[in-house]
Amino acid sequence: MNIFALLSLFGAIIVLFLGSFVFAKDTRNSLNILFILFCFSFFILGLAEYGMRAADNYETAFFWARIATLLMFPISFLFHFSLIFSDKLNSLEKKIVLPLIYVPTIIFSLLALFTDIFEPSPVKKYWGWTYGAPEDSFILNLFYLWLFGLVILSIFIILRMYFKASDHNKAIQAKYISIGLIISTLLYFIFDYLQLCSVQIENPELGILSFTISCGFISYAMWKYNLFTLNLTSATENIILNLPDMLILINPKGEIKSVNQATLNMFKYLESELINKTVEILIKEEEIKLYLFQYRMLVNFEKIDDLSDIEINFITKNGKAIPISLSASKIRDEFGMLQGIVLIGRDITERKHVELERKEIVKKQKLYIDEILKSSQFKSEFLSSMSHELRTPMNSIIGFSDLLLDQSYGELNEKQLDFLTDIKSSSEHLLGIINRLLDISKIEAGKLKLKFSEINLNSLINEVRSTIKPLYTKKKLFFKIEGLVDNKFIHADIGRLKEIFYNLLSNAIKFTTKGGIILKIKETNSSWVFFISDTGIGIAEKDFEIIFKEFHRIDSPYVINTPGTGLGLALTKRLVILHGGNISFSSELGKGTIFKFTIPNKNDKNI
Ligand code: ADP
Repeated sequence: MNIFALLSLFGAIIVLFLGSFVFAKDTRNSLNILFILFCFSFFILGLAEYGMRAADNYETAFFWARIATLLMFPISFLFHFSLIFSDKLNSLEKKIVLPLIYVPTIIFSLLALFTDIFEPSPVKKYWGWTYGAPEDSFILNLFYLWLFGLVILSIFIILRMYFKASDHNKAIQAKYISIGLIISTLLYFIFDYLQLCSVQIENPELGILSFTISCGFISYAMWKYNLFTLNLTSATENIILNLPDMLILINPKGEIKSVNQATLNMFKYLESELINKTVEILIKEEEIKLYLFQYRMLVNFEKIDDLSDIEINFITKNGKAIPISLSASKIRDEFGMLQGIVLIGRDITERKHVELERKEIVKKQKLYIDEILKSSQFKSEFLSSMSHELRTPMNSIIGFSDLLLDQSYGELNEKQLDFLTDIKSSSEHLLGIINRLLDISKIEAGKLKLKFSEINLNSLINEVRSTIKPLYTKKKLFFKIEGLVDNKFIHADIGRLKEIFYNLLSNAIKFTTKGGIILKIKETNSSWVFFISDTGIGIAEKDFEIIFKEFHRIDSPYVINTPGTGLGLALTKRLVILHGGNISFSSELGKGTIFKFTIPNKNDKNI
């Protein structure tokens, strides 16, 4: 038996064994796929070399030597392998680089098999048949240059990964693979190339064996890498297994290829009942269209890689609907081809429940607010009608008290006069409260309408002055008016404007013990501005916010001993606003207060 032929066969079998071993570890890894292709084509070469060496005539040796010219295939696979290994192939490069490798390979191989361009012309040596020295031809040189170039480039690319790879495992792999390739290439040169170049060294070339060494290195590196991915895969598998969310893997046709336990638990199916069925089996009938629309969008549009948070009602085997928030992501292979879609779904029954509860609460709140609004309207209506009903008897009480006090119906003793005077003043006080309440509630209900007219400011102010004159003269206070000009007209409701002045001025007098009051009038482009300043008790800053509120009076001995209802300023503010103006004040405790209010000019108010 020819020992060198056996060595080739041995090398071929080892290469095939190594390739299969690595491939079996992870059949989905594209590097492994390329490696097994590389090993298999090498195995064919090994067989061819064995066949040639062991041949007992020239024809058989020639036949096998011709098969051995398919050397280009393992080298092309090796180059492709190095590109994927170094993550160099993006989708554009794939379209250009891969044809550039494989098209010449196929052309060269067809030429080698079916024409005489690569005349292998084997010769018989003492160790058996071997390749004869080839004719010097251009195509043949090109062929060797091509092969040589691909091997050197592969070594260069993989060696570069050794220096560049950020992944430690990848760098180790790159190291082993490049060592293997360099050793094999050097051996090949020594054994084969020198022979081919007709250097007369009488040694048997061992090309297959030399590349068996590089296969050894590559498979060792791949095996390590596989172990690594295997660990990661098992970790991922564990995560997926324990994931509480639904996880379904479907192929591009939409058929279920794999499901996790959570999916089976959630939908009460056995795995075998779902595999190879379409996902529609799990979806509520009326929602299938929505699902299909989303699914087609994902599959047909290259640019869309994932969809997230689509709410779809799924259905269990026994017909129970489960609202699911669904996300879908495409899975692509190394070549960018769509391999499948992962559907991840979360049961959102709980979330829906909370949402429903929230809606319920919002609904209730709305009802409650409506109730409040209604009751405040009711309050206003109640107040206005009650005040109205109260005013008539109050007016009678005051009127009859007046008549009795007049004593035209008989003499009254002192006690009776006293009591009657009290009855009258209390009734007047009560009527004042009722009138103000009536006004406030009317304004609140939007029922108080102002009767606007052009008022002569001069006569209005004089009228106000004579009304309050008894009040300030009684307290020996001065009252000054500044800025009042003749023949000026103001657009307002005369009765209500008088009321505003009366309230502010009577307060100023009420809360002043010495000094006096100044009413200052200013006309601006847009409005009349009135300042009522006094030298009275003033207001502490902490009380600033309460004085416009209904029934609020300042809690001080002076105020408590002064008659009042706490309604005057509340009404005054509403009346000023109703005129389109605004009211504010500044004050210092113990020094006095200045109220300022504006009444807009007619043009500005558009009344
Ligand atoms: P009333 O005068 O009937 O008490 P108001 O609504 O007119 O009610 O005034 C509310 C409170 O504002 C008064 O009780 C008083 O404490 C304070 N106040 C109003 N005007 C003045 C002022 N010119 N100086 C000091 N305090 C004032």
